[in-house]
Amino acid sequence: MISARDALELLRDGNRRFVADVRSRENLPSRARRVELAAGQAPFATILGCSDSRVPVEIVFDQGLGDLFVIRVAGNIVAPSLIGSVEFAAERFRTRLVVVLGHSNCGAIQATIEQLQRPKENQSRNLHSIVDRVRPSVEALLASDLRHDLERLTDEAVRANIRASVKHLRHGSEIIEQLVLKDGLLIVGAEYSLETGEVDFFEGLGEEA
Ligand SMILES: [Zn+2]
Repeated sequence: MISARDALELLRDGNRRFVADVRSRENLPSRARRVELAAGQAPFATILGCSDSRVPVEIVFDQGLGDLFVIRVAGNIVAPSLIGSVEFAAERFRTRLVVVLGHSNCGAIQATIEQLQRPKENQSRNLHSIVDRVRPSVEALLASDLRHDLERLTDEAVRANIRASVKHLRHGSEIIEQLVLKDGLLIVGAEYSLETGEVDFFEGLGEEA
């Protein structure tokens, strides 16, 4: 089992390689690795990321087959099946680090802001279920002066939504609460910059952040 702190270092190192345009050869997919993994997996981190095509998790952390347990959903929201996926990895593979990975200019956040500013009657119910989960993070910001500055509003809403997902996951189930309290499970929030490729771990690390 890899501890949460060690897992975090692996992700930070991998992201530094990605930013520097360096790829580690051992993380490239290979037939040998595929065959080796067919017998079982031991991913060292669970990542709850956005579906955005510009944020492929294994690539931005320079990781290979079998390294990461990845859950992707537009807006990196937390819903019951996603909590279940985190529990599954934590219990089955003893994955001890969970990262909620949001990103700059997130379309799900922008869609939520638009919906709150100019509500559309005919929005699909399914899409609505995503907007509804992002809404609380955006509503508070829309009540402040930020509503006059769309760019800053979006930036702040991205972070607020990541924080909300981290909080929701931490208290999402009895199993996860117990793992955090007694078994070294760490849930942190991070933002990926589409421009620089850097991942900023800004939530859940206390003074060490
Ligand atoms: Zn997104």
